[in-house]
Amino acid sequence: MAAFLFPQHVIARKRDGAELTRAEIDAFVRGATDGSWADYQLSALLMAVFLRGMSAQETAALTDAMMRSGVVADLSAVGMPKADKHSTGGVGDKVSIHLAPMVAACGVAVPMISGRGLGHTGGTVDKLESIPGFRMGLSIAEYSAQVGRIGLSLICQTSELAPADRKLYALRDVTATVECIPLICASILSKKLAEGIDVLVLDVKHGSGAFMREKARARELAVALTGVAKAMGKPARAVMTAMDEPLGRTVGNALEVAESVECLRGDGARDLMEVTYALGAQMLLLAGAERDAAAARARLERSVASGAAFSKFRELIEAQGGDPRVVDDPARLPQARSRKPLASPRAGFVTRVDAMGVALAALRLGAGRARAEDRVDHAVGFSGLVKVGERVGRGDPLCVIHSNADQAQAEAAEMILKAVAVGDEAPPPAPLVGELIG
Ligand code: URA
Repeated sequence: MAAFLFPQHVIARKRDGAELTRAEIDAFVRGATDGSWADYQLSALLMAVFLRGMSAQETAALTDAMMRSGVVADLSAVGMPKADKHSTGGVGDKVSIHLAPMVAACGVAVPMISGRGLGHTGGTVDKLESIPGFRMGLSIAEYSAQVGRIGLSLICQTSELAPADRKLYALRDVTATVECIPLICASILSKKLAEGIDVLVLDVKHGSGAFMREKARARELAVALTGVAKAMGKPARAVMTAMDEPLGRTVGNALEVAESVECLRGDGARDLMEVTYALGAQMLLLAGAERDAAAARARLERSVASGAAFSKFRELIEAQGGDPRVVDDPARLPQARSRKPLASPRAGFVTRVDAMGVALAALRLGAGRARAEDRVDHAVGFSGLVKVGERVGRGDPLCVIHSNADQAQAEAAEMILKAVAVGDEAPPPAPLVGELIG
């Protein structure tokens, strides 16, 4: 039996800059899981880690202990390689919804556990819950069986999975300890590695709509995430992508599902498909399903052109109890009472669509949560958003606002007019997909 360690001694060691032992990290994670450490002791250690940092070894030990605080899915009976993708969070980032069926249609299983919206960023769980009947809270047994049956499962974090992260994340949220690379690494990887995957691709975002606005900090996070995953025996690769303007042309839950369906029909926006193919290609490469990026991309393109990815998405919706008719008729998704185009006040070229500004406008409409207990309005948001570099005439729509309340619509319109800039010249194109790490 492990020797008892007093929480205050562990806290004091980290406060003074020591490297924690595996036993100390285990005691902390056990304390978070079984309630034997008080919230103030957990919070004190989180703040000490925030201020003093953690070595790569400590971060790997924390990730491992948090992963083992719950069930680790065993997908060894699934006769396909298993790959997942995780994004550090963005605006209009609906990539998982169409990427997962595309990759599954290429013969690589995608067991994906997603999150809800966090802060200003949207979450795949909120988006998919706009599909009538779609169940995301599958048990790990149901999830594993479905991955075996159809090679695809898209669920939310349940109490079975990394419960220490649920506890610690809630405390970090209210103790100003979220933006800490070792804690982010352990939080993300403890959940992802509990999925039973073989390989992991990370979309690490930087820019106005990302948690890590600066590229250098985002790169540091990518290096830490891939390093810790590797230390835990999971091949992982990070793709650095820009998040200065929203991805694609919609922001809002049901609207983004409808846009993902367009992607599966072969009509996806250029920027959205560029990120989708870059991430999907890395998933196929890392899983050993293709040998080079060009072949991987061509295979993903074929999964769309042949309709195989589209059919896989329908199969996923059916398997999880949703109404599969939404893929043929997106009007079956929740619809807002009002749809109002927002006119451009001048003619010219779009020089900026600030992702953070659009995200806050979507929050004002009710597309996300201001407080944890808030209900999300699945129908509201923006469609037809202009993209940087496009030419607009005076009075042309910058977007269509989907709203259920007049006051919110008026305020969101003001916010979009501030987030979008139109100038005389188109800015030079900025790279969207950057460096590969790991
Ligand atoms: N997403 C997570 O799951 N955890 C973090 O700490 C940050 C983003």
